Amino acid sequence: MAKGPEEIIRDEIRALAAYHVPVSEGMVKLDAMENPYPLPRPVRERIATLVAGAEINRYPDAGAARLKLRLQEALEIPEGLELLLGNGSDEIIQMLMLAVARPGATVLGVEPAFVMFRLIASFCGLRFVGVPLRPDFSLDAERTVAAIEQHQPALVFIAYPNNPTGNLFDAAAIDRVIAAAPGLVVIDEAYHAFAERTYIHTLRENVNLLVMRTLSKSGFAGLRLGLLVGAGTWLAHVDKVRLPYNVGVLTQLVAEEALQHPALLDEQASAIKSERARLYAALERESRTTPFPSDANFILFKTAAAQSTFDALKGRGVLIKNLHGSHPALEGCLRVTVGRPDENDRFLEALREVPA
Ligand code: PMP
Repeated sequence: MAKGPEEIIRDEIRALAAYHVPVSEGMVKLDAMENPYPLPRPVRERIATLVAGAEINRYPDAGAARLKLRLQEALEIPEGLELLLGNGSDEIIQMLMLAVARPGATVLGVEPAFVMFRLIASFCGLRFVGVPLRPDFSLDAERTVAAIEQHQPALVFIAYPNNPTGNLFDAAAIDRVIAAAPGLVVIDEAYHAFAERTYIHTLRENVNLLVMRTLSKSGFAGLRLGLLVGAGTWLAHVDKVRLPYNVGVLTQLVAEEALQHPALLDEQASAIKSERARLYAALERESRTTPFPSDANFILFKTAAAQSTFDALKGRGVLIKNLHGSHPALEGCLRVTVGRPDENDRFLEALREVPA
């Protein structure tokens, strides 16, 4: 008798709900921290030419040497550090976890944070320990250090700024976490473009520290390119679980071109930051919403009726993210990505039309 999924698929995988991506066609899409600005026409045309000449009959450069050089310069990565590339930073999280997934090994993070940390740990058969943030979403150093001492995690993940809360944790608290960790600490700087602060310059003193970045929030979510920076002594091992051609020919070409336009990317990030300030002030003025300060390209806010507000916005063609019910600390919380001025206006107008 052939066996069904109940007997074959691992219990923890059957118990999972699939990662849900809502339909967004025709909507004002403010749910996924994308950059709302397209590239200017001349850059798009240059990309079209590059794509037309791309050797897509060949496998990509498995080591992505040219792209890595460009990244090294563009990100001002200090000498002596190595780079590892992923199909989005999601894939890098998975590589790191696969590489440490000894039976009984633990990954530790704070919560609420990026849900993929917990999910991918489960995919890899790892135990995940989530340490609660304080009610104001600051990092509870005492509690986190105590959990590290108790659980001895192989990996600690800290998103800086954190998603979905948007804040940067206190540097002294992070230092205490780094000092207490027995294994690797990964600082996930996915939202670096909007926060400026970075741990890249501390990597040489902290051998067990790795910094992860992504191009996704800077206008290239569709390319799927994430990167990990750190000591070669660690990255050489993580690289062994990387599938050989994980970054495609087109992604490599387009990313190389994208990195040639730092002023453009800075300009877009500045526009997003100034819209973030405007959106924050507007959410603060509204009687029914309380925003949390953000150093990222989104704002988390609390409202008395999260589900009905989310539904009413959706009914008015504006898609944001409902976090109510995903974690006790996020009760009544919605998250809006900072869009273009016209998109943010449509969001604010729709919000004002939500019935009380
Ligand atoms: N880290 C954090 C904190 C994120 O919020 C996200 C995307 N939501 C990612 C990593 C993954 O980004 P990507 O796979 O697109 O690089």
